[in-house]
Amino acid sequence: MADASYFDSISRLDGQLFIGGAFRPGEGSRLPVENPATGETIGHIAAATGAEVDAAVAAARAAFRIWSRELPRTRANALHRLGDLIAADALNMARIMTAEQGKPVNEAKGEILKLAEACHFYAEEATRVHGEIVPNDQPGFQSLVVREPIGVVGAITPWNYPAELVGWKLCASLAAACTIVIKPAEITPYTALAIAEKCADAGIPAGVVNVLTGKGSQVGQALVEHPHVDKIAFTGSSAVGLHIQQSCPQVKRLSLELGGNCPLVVTASADVAAAVKGAARRSFRNCGQICIAINRIYVHRSVYDEFVAQLGAAADALSVRNGLENAAADLGAMASGEPLAKTKEHLADALEKGARLIAGGKAPEGAEYAGGHFFRPTVVADCDHSMKVMTEETFGPLIGVAPFDDLDEAVRLANDTPYGLASYVYARDLVEIQTLSQELDYGNVAINNVDAGIMNAPYGGRKQSGVGYEHGREGLLEYFNFKHVRLHHGVGN
Ligand code: NAP
Ligand code: MG
Repeated sequence: MADASYFDSISRLDGQLFIGGAFRPGEGSRLPVENPATGETIGHIAAATGAEVDAAVAAARAAFRIWSRELPRTRANALHRLGDLIAADALNMARIMTAEQGKPVNEAKGEILKLAEACHFYAEEATRVHGEIVPNDQPGFQSLVVREPIGVVGAITPWNYPAELVGWKLCASLAAACTIVIKPAEITPYTALAIAEKCADAGIPAGVVNVLTGKGSQVGQALVEHPHVDKIAFTGSSAVGLHIQQSCPQVKRLSLELGGNCPLVVTASADVAAAVKGAARRSFRNCGQICIAINRIYVHRSVYDEFVAQLGAAADALSVRNGLENAAADLGAMASGEPLAKTKEHLADALEKGARLIAGGKAPEGAEYAGGHFFRPTVVADCDHSMKVMTEETFGPLIGVAPFDDLDEAVRLANDTPYGLASYVYARDLVEIQTLSQELDYGNVAINNVDAGIMNAPYGGRKQSGVGYEHGREGLLEYFNFKHVRLHHGVGN
């Protein structure tokens, strides 16, 4: 049985908002939060009211004047303290996340530790915000290009990575000297509130970080429409991202990290065992509820049967358990009934259209699974683009596999999607590798590995997968305005 101290944290955060440096009980109605592994209600959130949204934005705006005048080193130190506090409490924070999201505790703890790493990365970047001096055509002039923080950021985040997707926006905002109002996903609010607690403990000044809970269509939308929110940093579905872009009533900076439909191409020259290992990891980790999850796999016909058989065996070998009580399980519960229903729909559609079931295809059996949203990792082969599994983002533990005959066909199929987030390749032939890395129309291409996102390189989508970047220097630039100062000093006139 898992240590239950995380439950005290959840009780403490129940119904709370974090505004102007203090927790306060929300005044709005209460919405239940479910443990997706059991179906039990673990607590409630408060739906922030219009007045509370205004209060949080006002607090962020007031704090911006102070925070943006602090020395970079002061902001860096605050981020380092935040990273240390988060790492020190990683296990408890992981259990909070598992209780609301379902992923096994060890995996949740890995995510919390990566959040701590992001704090330290951005702490270092905070002291390296340089400008540029641009030569002028006339003597006696100099152009300075300086970076200034945008102001108040409204961050709206999904439920699949409740710590990291809040954290990237939080850390980049703080490093750039912006202030932030965070609206986490309705079903995973406690991780964000636990992060707010750490911000308070780290001595981050009141109002620099605020957390509002509630429904996206109300609280998120209120941030989008708020005249004093200068930028929206959104991660979520393409549909909601497009809605935000279309419904924003003022000109406002937007970063949109949206959905994916990520392909893996396995060529004739690939190390098939390595490709299978990578495919199993990136298709099924977090139950496939990853924007950069592999959704569909194209395998050269010469290695197709071998690949399909091995991937089926790898899927069958994965354990699916209640992730709070089995910290080391491969898969936990899915985060809610919604992605589970979509997974079943995509599976039924594929089977109806002639796909072959290789592994999984159903929920695991037994009393442990009765109340939760569980599904076995599932592989279907002989798929084509008439099937939803190959053309829509499933966001579940289901992978479709199809054969190809030549590289042109693989490129055409891989790019046959409105999305452009991440793509994966297993190949050893240099020409194949070069061709695919050039031709794949994606913001990320991972070759002979399946970890496209690292902290110090840009991460972002193209096409319907979004605009803007997170991670790396490029991620930090999203939080600045440039100012051109043209100085006539007269020297050399
Ligand atoms: P979602 O339904 O788009 O929700 C994302 C966030 O937007 C939630 O906080 C949601 O609040 C809020 N929201 C909903 N309607 C809104 C509105 N009208 N105005 C403002 N905010 C609104 O996405 P999801 O189902 O949580 O997450 C899954 C999706 O996220 C997938 O498509 C996945 O690919 C994508 N994703 C992308 C990336 C990336 O880096 N590109 C990373 C992770 C996930 P509620 O929770 O209250 O509905
Ligand atoms: Mg949703």
